[in-house]
Formats: sequence, structure tokens, C-alpha cells
Amino acid sequence: MTSLPLIPTSPDAPIGGPARRAAMPPRHLADLDLAGRQALVAELGEPAFRAKQLSNHYFGRLVRDPGLMTDLPAASRDRLADQLMPKLLTPVREMACDDGATRKALWRLHDGSLVESVLMGYRDRITVCISSQAGCGMACPFCATGQAGLTRNLSTAEIVDQAVYLAGVAASGAVAGSPPRLSHVVFMGMGEPLANYSRVIAAVRRLCAPAPEGLGLSQRHITVSTVGLVPAIRRLADEDLSVTLALSLHAPDDDLRDELVPVNQRWKVAEVLDAAWDYAGRTGRRVSIEYAMIRDVNDQPWRADLLGRLLAGRLTHVNLIPLNPTPGSRWDASPKPVEREFVRRLREAGVSTTVRDTRGQEIDGACGQLAAAEVAS
Ligand code: SAH
Repeated sequence: MTSLPLIPTSPDAPIGGPARRAAMPPRHLADLDLAGRQALVAELGEPAFRAKQLSNHYFGRLVRDPGLMTDLPAASRDRLADQLMPKLLTPVREMACDDGATRKALWRLHDGSLVESVLMGYRDRITVCISSQAGCGMACPFCATGQAGLTRNLSTAEIVDQAVYLAGVAASGAVAGSPPRLSHVVFMGMGEPLANYSRVIAAVRRLCAPAPEGLGLSQRHITVSTVGLVPAIRRLADEDLSVTLALSLHAPDDDLRDELVPVNQRWKVAEVLDAAWDYAGRTGRRVSIEYAMIRDVNDQPWRADLLGRLLAGRLTHVNLIPLNPTPGSRWDASPKPVEREFVRRLREAGVSTTVRDTRGQEIDGACGQLAAAEVAS
């Protein structure tokens, strides 16, 4: 660690300086709830029910081409689409691996910022991993996104549109061997979701509202992952949402966590776990503890035992993530026998533990590899 990241005073304050307001995208229907869309449509001199029709195309049918919205009068179709569905994401590159079951999409936003999303198809579900910020201000040294710093917060609609777009890809049957319907969304792409708090919460509400207001996902199928912004975790517990909280812990002791997750210099392990247990108590949801296994850094047996003592008896589950390689990183994944011993010790302490698959590694789509570098093809 060479320098302390700037810590926001409020959960919405961007870290690393104020977001350039001018860089935010045009308003889109996914920024608004249904009442807001109806008010906007009325302002445009159209009957309020057009809001529902547009919403139904976007969230219900996953259609964004005005030419296909034949229930709207041709005269107002383009104008309504212009005003309520401006193009937010321009696909720059799509990459696939695992026989098409893992797909990474690189998008260009209206101001040129690049962000990425990853779709992962499984036998029983489709999960989309979405970004909440362009870049990230949290500066975790083992994460590719953390190396570039924060460009800006994404708008609610820019966040939602990643999921809606990929829900359309899934619905087209592109992911063989998986159900066609997107069911799970994880905020584990680029950015720190809780540093873009209100837009992320609005995005969660849109993703979970029943169609046509939203995408109709179950709150229980949404995971919000955080480095541990304690005031924001506490605020999230007040939202009355049943989303899963994932906490990127990566070390059970402050000495090491101060280095691996620099925000720990502000909110210590004990404090962040306290907030996590409060969240679990309030929501009844098991908190996921994310722990990247880094060879000879955080994978010692004594750290497994310490972690086990911190987590024993709590409503929690540990996801160990074999460290994914990132450019220029001096760190490697732990050897498998070390990983197995770590798992064994945690389980012996009574802590439910699994090792996460490293989906998407070949396309730099795995955890911590999303850097949005535009690779010349
Ligand atoms: N900022 C949020 C959301 C990002 S989630 C958070 O940190 O929780 C991405 C997850 O992948 C986090 O748990 C992150 O710590 C982890 N990660 C980052 N770089 C990684 C790497 N190189 N290998 C494995 N996991 C990594």
C-alpha cells in the first residue's frame, strides 16, 4: 500500500473526486419507476398508457427497436423511443468461452467510458454479472478494475440495461444447455456498488419489479457485493430488500486486510463483520464472504482458523475464489493442496465453504479481471 484511497463521506459520494456530472447519460425509462414514466409521457403530450406499452416492450419482450413496437402509432414511435429509450450501451466486443456458456460483453457508454458485463449459463439458471461504475475507486491491488481508478458512476438505466440486454441474448436461445430466462444478477462486475448507492438501489428495484415496470427477478436472486462500506451496508439493511449481501473480506486480520482491501483502513474487520451480521439478522439472508486465495499471502492455516473463529455460528457462507491472474500482478493463486486445507479448516470450524469456479478466465471475464481494456482484435 502506498496511498490511502479517499473515503466517501456519504455512500453516494464518488471516491477519487467528484463524478463529472456532464458525463452522465441521457434519461431512459429504466431510470424511472412506472409513475415517473407515465408523467414523462404525459409531458410529451402522449396518453399515459404509452408508458406501459414502452415498458412492456423493453422489460417484458426485451425489444428495443422502435420498428418492432407496432402497437404504438408510427407517428410517435420514434419520438417516444428517442425520449425514453436512448441507446445507452454500444456493444464493442463480445467474447465467449466454455462452449458459449460464458460470454463477456464490452460496452461503450455515451461518453466513451468502457464497462463490461458477463453472462454465465448453468444447467439450471442464467446469471449475469453487471458493472455499477466505470472503473473503481477502491484500489484493491489484486483486482484489475481497481488499478485504473474511478471514471464515473453509472446511471440506474446503464446498470439495468446490461441485464436487460443480456436477458435478450439469453432469451434468443444463445446459451445452449441453460434455461432461456435470466434469473440471477450479481453486482460483481466493475465498480463498488455501494459507492453508487442510490442508483444501484434503484436498479435493484427495477430488476425486481414485476413486468412491465421491471424485469421481474426475485430479490433473493440478486447479490450486491461490497468491499465493506459500513454506513452503506447499514443503510442497505434499512431498505427492506431481500437481496444477498456479499462481503469481499479476503483477510481475517486488519494488518493484511489494510493492504488487500484498502478501505479497511477506514472500517476494520470487526466493524464490517458486525454490519454484515446485522444485515443477516435483519433480512434473514445468509451473507456471502468472498475470499480470493492468494499464494503465501492470505492462505496460511492460521488465517483459515482465525477466519473460522470469526464466522463460526453466523448466518454465512464462504466463497473461496482462486486468484485470477491480472496484468502485472505479482500474486498467484494458492496451490490446490493449500486451498483444500483452508477449506477443511473452515468446515471443521462449522463454516459452510465452497470454492468458486473460475468461469471466464480465458476471456478475462473472471472476478477481478474486468479492466475494459479495448484489445485490438
Ligand atoms: N467492488 C465490489 C464488487 C466487485 S465483485 C467488491 O469488491 O465486492 C468482484 C469480486 O472479485 C470481489 O470479491 C473482488 O474482491 C474479487 N476479485 C477481485 N480481483 C480478483 C482476482 N484477481 N481474483 C479473484 N477474485 C478477485
